[in-house]
Amino acid sequence: MIVNPSEILEMSDYIALEKQYGAFNYKPLPVVLSKGEGIFVWDTDGKKYFDFLSAYSAVNQGHCHPDIIRALTSQASNLTLTSRAFHNDKLGIFEEYLAKYFQYDRVLPMNSGVEACESAVKLARKWAYEVKGIPNNEAIVLFANDNFWGRSIAAVSASTDPQSYTNFGPYVPGFQKIPFNDLVALEAAFQNKNIAAFMVEPIQGEAGVVVPDSNYLTGVRNLCNQYNVLFIADEVQTGIARTGKLLACDHEDVKPDILVLGKALGGGVFPVSAVLTSDEVMLTLKPGEHGSTFGGNPLACVVAIAALEVVEKEELAKNAEIMGEIFRNRMQAIQSPLISNVRGKGLLNAITVQPFGGNKTAEDVCYELMHHGLLAKQTHGDIIRFAPPLIISEEEMQEACDIIEKTIASLD
Ligand code: PLP
Repeated sequence: MIVNPSEILEMSDYIALEKQYGAFNYKPLPVVLSKGEGIFVWDTDGKKYFDFLSAYSAVNQGHCHPDIIRALTSQASNLTLTSRAFHNDKLGIFEEYLAKYFQYDRVLPMNSGVEACESAVKLARKWAYEVKGIPNNEAIVLFANDNFWGRSIAAVSASTDPQSYTNFGPYVPGFQKIPFNDLVALEAAFQNKNIAAFMVEPIQGEAGVVVPDSNYLTGVRNLCNQYNVLFIADEVQTGIARTGKLLACDHEDVKPDILVLGKALGGGVFPVSAVLTSDEVMLTLKPGEHGSTFGGNPLACVVAIAALEVVEKEELAKNAEIMGEIFRNRMQAIQSPLISNVRGKGLLNAITVQPFGGNKTAEDVCYELMHHGLLAKQTHGDIIRFAPPLIISEEEMQEACDIIEKTIASLD
């Protein structure tokens, strides 16, 4: 029997359908969501939850932000996709808007974060051969251990996480990994004349919200200048106000050579990503050398402009900074053997959960949080990331912290 797409099912039936017809590449919490508004989501039984994941920071502006939805729907009934075989009347406007917003010369529009990261790596290789003068096919791109930039063959080739790369080889050559937050290791690696670029997240998100030393990015910038290596900042998760500044690199006033954005650039409604860089780097690309059918489509362009306007108009960076302080203070004040560490910046935060009551894990805490009306997801077994939409008010933040506190107390 085929389910009528408009039929209303029990929650367990929706889950059963995914189980029968989907791939098992995710292990979601057993909750089926059917509505979102602001910082809240509702399940199909009508139960309301605080969303403390924000689709891995793609919903910084909150669910179904009216300005973003208005931009989406009005453009959707006008023109959605032309491909880049023709010009469209939104792309140039979007490129200018983005270039000026983040102060770069040029923009390369893509769709998902992994595509934009891979595009940055391609640009770095092109620059290495055509500008820096590295012998053909010998360019090396450096990555930090525990990086995460997606699931493509290139991304898993750069990964140091066995779950990401095992049985997906052979891997892309010319990638080298060094420890994160280690300038000595970076300088040692730079002794090789064939290094084209170092790609790094200013705060490692998937690794569990790992915040480097306060001068790390400055050190990276200085070493990249000294050794003529491109500094690529993967701000797909940390960018667009998430950490309390427009970009996480802004905490150190550092400007990367290549900036990669995604997730919240699409305002939580549409996949939009982009690579921003200088004339020198971007103009190495010639017609036919890179592209994407959907990259730079007019729907994405208007959604991204609306998404960034919301960030500015509602001062989301400032709110993220203030709410983040409240969150960390509340978490640090919880007296429980379960919490061994609280860390983060702005509204990208994590707590580390000590194993307790036998072999219970962070996943068990997430289940309990769900029952108490707050959705969050563990990473690496013992870490829970807390990243609500940046529009959260103080009252809502205090209420959410009450839920977390109560949940932890119930598990103690
Ligand atoms: N880069 C970072 C830092 C990420 O956190 C992610 C996804 O979590 C990506 C890249 C990949 O983005 P996407 O899942 O949109 O391909």
